[in-house]
Amino acid sequence: MKKLIKNSDELIDFLKLPKELRENAKKGSQLFDFKVTKHFAENMEKGNPKDPLLLQVLPSLSEFVEKEGFVEDPVGEFGKQKIPGLLQKYQSRVLLILTGNCAVNCRYCFRRNFPYDDLQNIYKQLEEFSEQIEADKTIEEVILSGGDPLTLTDSQLEKVVLRLEKISHLKRLRIHTRFPIVSPERIGKELVNLLASSRFAVYFVVHSNHPNEMDKTVLEALKLLTKQGITVFNQMVLLRGINDSTEVLEKFLKLQVNNSILPYYLHKLDTVKGASHFDVSVEEGKKIIEELRKRLPGFAVPNFVVEKEGLPFKIPL
Ligand SMILES: *Cc1c(COP(=O)(O)O)cnc(C)c1O
Ligand code: SF4
Repeated sequence: MKKLIKNSDELIDFLKLPKELRENAKKGSQLFDFKVTKHFAENMEKGNPKDPLLLQVLPSLSEFVEKEGFVEDPVGEFGKQKIPGLLQKYQSRVLLILTGNCAVNCRYCFRRNFPYDDLQNIYKQLEEFSEQIEADKTIEEVILSGGDPLTLTDSQLEKVVLRLEKISHLKRLRIHTRFPIVSPERIGKELVNLLASSRFAVYFVVHSNHPNEMDKTVLEALKLLTKQGITVFNQMVLLRGINDSTEVLEKFLKLQVNNSILPYYLHKLDTVKGASHFDVSVEEGKKIIEELRKRLPGFAVPNFVVEKEGLPFKIPL
């Protein structure tokens, strides 16, 4: 985290991209901070302003485009928090936001405007969240989300897991994270031991959109988890100019299942303000999925879904 690239000039220079990009990136980052890991940057192609990894993180002037339906809070989360950071939209599982911090800032992030400043100290939150969950026996699963929950230290995470384990009706722990992809060294022995020795069934849902993101180091990090019986799923967002192609997705999905990573969701872009240039229509998405179904085993085709405010699950398209 100390080595993050937080100045877009630095990334532009590292990739030997034209200096003209600098000013636009600076402007875009006023809407949402720029941030990327060294590891993620190293998988970008030098000199290619259309690199699929670069486009996910480099701020641009397109973020100033106003488009109807693209709003601050596209899935209606801000008002739904029972206490700041505690979200329950669906039965039997709750989502906890213990941190707003991530290792990269993805330009299309649906929580790019989330009021993270309302979050309190994580231990205070943990206690309040736990009391809420204790009072509702229908909850069987906790999802650690964010932000990215792996920005917490191992010892912070240990306290979280130990506290949640005391709630007897909780059976499953899910971790939604981009860390194994953007900073695979985060998956160390301590973290793996902590999760492997937990009484919970542990699920990782990593977020990765393009095969170039899953290099050898990333696959090795993920293997440390799967070897311990931790199921690893991947979720993607369908993104214009990045992975809106049958060929790219076919290659990526094969890479996932060949490494025991299970494709979970392909999300239709949430209509967050500033991200309309990433949007791919439902029709285009369906065509790609249909073609993938011909080419791949059933378990290699993710569920193409969209989230709609007020509906009780993510809607399969
Ligand atoms: C997406 C989401 C979940 C998880 O839904 P699954 O379909 O179980 O993956 C849970 N809570 C919230 C608030 C969500 O947005
Ligand atoms: S890692 Fe996830 S939460 Fe963080 S900016 Fe990217 S999409 Fe958003």
